[in-house]
Amino acid sequence: MQRFETARDAALTLRPDRPVYCFRPDVLKADARRFAGLFPGKTAYAVKTNGEAMVLKAVSEAGISAFDVASPAEFAAVRTVAPDAEMLYMHPVKAQSDIRLALEAFGIRVIALDHEDEIAKLTRVVKALDIDPGSVTVFVRLQTKGHAAYELSKKFGAAPAHAVELLQRLHRGGYRVGICFHVGSQIEDADTYERALASADWVRNRAGVPLAALDVGGGFPAEYGHDPNRKAPRMPSLDEIMARLGNDIVEYGFGDVPLVAEPGRVIVARAFSLIVRVLLRKGRRLYINDGIWSSLSDSWTGKITLPARFIPDPAIRTRNGDAGRTAAFRVCGGTCDSVDILSRPFWLPETVDTGDWIEIGHIGAYSMALRTHFNGFYPDTFVEVATPFEEGGAPDSFASLETMA
Ligand SMILES: *Cc1c(COP(=O)(O)O)cnc(C)c1O
Repeated sequence: MQRFETARDAALTLRPDRPVYCFRPDVLKADARRFAGLFPGKTAYAVKTNGEAMVLKAVSEAGISAFDVASPAEFAAVRTVAPDAEMLYMHPVKAQSDIRLALEAFGIRVIALDHEDEIAKLTRVVKALDIDPGSVTVFVRLQTKGHAAYELSKKFGAAPAHAVELLQRLHRGGYRVGICFHVGSQIEDADTYERALASADWVRNRAGVPLAALDVGGGFPAEYGHDPNRKAPRMPSLDEIMARLGNDIVEYGFGDVPLVAEPGRVIVARAFSLIVRVLLRKGRRLYINDGIWSSLSDSWTGKITLPARFIPDPAIRTRNGDAGRTAAFRVCGGTCDSVDILSRPFWLPETVDTGDWIEIGHIGAYSMALRTHFNGFYPDTFVEVATPFEEGGAPDSFASLETMA
């Protein structure tokens, strides 16, 4: 992989017409170590957030030796890069053939579920393979309520009374049992984990079975930008969230229970930025070479403001407008369909023009993992960049670097 000091250097050297991902392995390792250092239990990186081999390798090199996986392809990706790593199969709804593959071929012994039919599938496999259920830890996924950019309890999780039944049934079946939840991705207030812990406490007390572990899931927020024309939301920092979480864990009596977390976004978001090119400026609209079917999927851009930095093409000699003034530009993606328009504007200098580049920061989570081949476009060029995005020159103008203040 080619290496550059900054994304600007990469853009001006390569003059790319295709989107280029700028990977910052040192940032990734630092963020992985930071999380593991703050969390008082086992850190399992959530592979779905970004399953690129270079990411799994760096996370593993940072000392993370557990991974949250959900599919045969994720089992294989982790096994290839980190053969000794532990895998936690935390998808609550699974094909029986995948459960068998997990237990038989990959030796996975940690699994999650939220329904009795999943217990039946698991037990069929455990019996067929003659596995001691006491060697398997089964987490019951609990429904939670809270505020996050992406709610997950609409889809997964047993209601508390149901979770009690599931725990008791698993315990009778000879399994080791745990409670897990996922409060939703990019949580917006620090009370979210407390509400989930209160619910886990209620379930634990009613179930009356020994708990092998408590898994608090993911959801830890990454730092993004904000629209300079709107009031910046007050986001809790990771340190604040961790301090609260640590206290709440003790307060609800989980201080002696082995803990697990499954962070994704908070570990990998900062590790990548993306260089896109302005293919055409049409008034206050910019047509770029990436979009919602590639690295900027709508689910993302609807809720999250990405920080962006302008990289003017020095070959453009004359420009219209005032370089010191920023304006909002509607950003249209690279495919031939009308959905491919970002739901938030980018704030850029008035002088931005056809041929310039934009570096979009903090796109490591749920961006390249969600890219498609739609319309024949599939960005897949990577370079390594040494300097963290937020240090790549002052944010001059444009989109939102509130988090760097
Ligand atoms: C997606 C997911 C995660 C990661 O969530 P983040 O909000 O990115 O930290 C963790 N655990 C499970 C079970 C998930 O589905």
